[in-house]
Amino acid sequence: MEFKKNDIVTVTIEDIGNDGEGIGKTEGYTLFVKDAVIGDVVEARITKCKKNYGYARVEKVVTPSSFRVEPKCAFHRQCGGCQIQAMSYARQLVYKQDKIRNNLLRIGGFTAEQVDAVMEPIAGMQEPWHYRNKAQFPVGYDREGNLITGFYAGRTHNIIANTDCALGTVENKLILEAVLSYMRENHVTAYRENTGEGLVRHVLIRTGFTSGQIMVCLVVNGKKLPAEEKLTEALLNIPFTSTGGNGQNQRITSISISINREKSNVIMGKDIRVLWGSRCIQDTLCGLTFNISPLSFYQVNPYQTEKLYGLALEYAELTGKETVWDLYCGIGTISLCMAKKARQVYGVEVVPQAIEDARENARMNQIGNVEFYEGKAEEVLPAFYAQAGPGEQLAGKEGNAKESGCGDKLHPNVIVVDPPRKGCDEKCLETMLRMKPERIVYVSCDSATLARDLRVLCDGGYELQRVRGVDQFGGTVHVECVCLIVQTKVDTTYQSRNLP
Ligand code: SAH
Repeated sequence: MEFKKNDIVTVTIEDIGNDGEGIGKTEGYTLFVKDAVIGDVVEARITKCKKNYGYARVEKVVTPSSFRVEPKCAFHRQCGGCQIQAMSYARQLVYKQDKIRNNLLRIGGFTAEQVDAVMEPIAGMQEPWHYRNKAQFPVGYDREGNLITGFYAGRTHNIIANTDCALGTVENKLILEAVLSYMRENHVTAYRENTGEGLVRHVLIRTGFTSGQIMVCLVVNGKKLPAEEKLTEALLNIPFTSTGGNGQNQRITSISISINREKSNVIMGKDIRVLWGSRCIQDTLCGLTFNISPLSFYQVNPYQTEKLYGLALEYAELTGKETVWDLYCGIGTISLCMAKKARQVYGVEVVPQAIEDARENARMNQIGNVEFYEGKAEEVLPAFYAQAGPGEQLAGKEGNAKESGCGDKLHPNVIVVDPPRKGCDEKCLETMLRMKPERIVYVSCDSATLARDLRVLCDGGYELQRVRGVDQFGGTVHVECVCLIVQTKVDTTYQSRNLP
């Protein structure tokens, strides 16, 4: 039978797709059904037809799946944030474990035996709500022209007015309401994407879950806000009642604006001007204190990050004499955790403000055995390697550095990578292979690019030894993962094959 757009069909959902959608068949025709949960029988409306498959969305749940739960957020179907909020948390974890495994098989080309022999069960969250320490809320207008803030509806730039996201902190709502009332009272306009006019584009809020310190940064299409002191006043008057993990009251310690006059989708502008307090907030992770500035990356789920870093450290098997590179190091969180257990750590990161934070964080924690380099991993590492020259590149390999077990900068014992979703650049992987660390610890937020990169590294003489998912993003389809790969053969072919 031929299907067409707007047809209503009954589908039994048998699988889950990459974006969390349900997958089922009707008369042999495969449908990807948005908001359907595996195990559901639904009536779905077809939204798009292709030759062999189509897309649809749930009109009515006929028989709910045993995995279906009452969503916490009224906007979960419209909002692009939580794709699988209607699925029980236990089933979400099964989905994420399978996602990593399937990517390792299909994209990484590992066999089921290889993966099943090394893959550990995913580390789930104790409390899958209110776990995010960071949120960026777009500011705009509703149809009636009222000032609103909330989230973009999935795949659009229409703002859903919702200050009460179930993934963020409950204090975000108070802060957003204070910002909106400051804007109304002082006739401050919101940015309009279509015309490029108006001032306030986004509100960034970041909370130190341990320290209780809160950062509020308004992204502004201009250099200045009207009556800036009124914004500060409104924010500082919020009566917070919760405390951070250290028992101190939650309080705003940093108010700033980020100047962004570009007509683009990039949220933050690079110029930051502090209106009140400090440029950074501080937080504690794994017993270390970190300065976090508005432009720097900081893991969004602190509880799970401690588990993630704990695993990365365990996989690195540090004894105190190792040399370690930490690529994509952000503000140096992993670098500093490793530095306490290694001889020397080198960090590489592309965002200059993050490198500044990283250096300050090393000083603040009195850690001297770490050096940070600003630049792209795929440029810094190859440049450093090339500059050493062939003599030095080959020395040390079987020489002193190896024998003493402490490696050196050119021949590290361990390389840690924690790239963004797009994974590592080929040039970076290639240089890692030439440097021949004994162990590579790959921390990934996208198991598809992870699997692709592991294939390159394993073809270059490494073996997959440990894999574990760590869920940092409950309610969403995203999952973090840590892998350990170790050098298998003392392979000289790769080195000589690739030498210029
Ligand atoms: N390891 C850190 C940061 C991980 S996020 C932590 O756990 O907090 C990935 C980081 O890679 C971000 O800080 C991002 O700015 C940085 N980055 C992105 N592309 C990069 C590249 N090509 N080279 C180096 N760093 C990059």
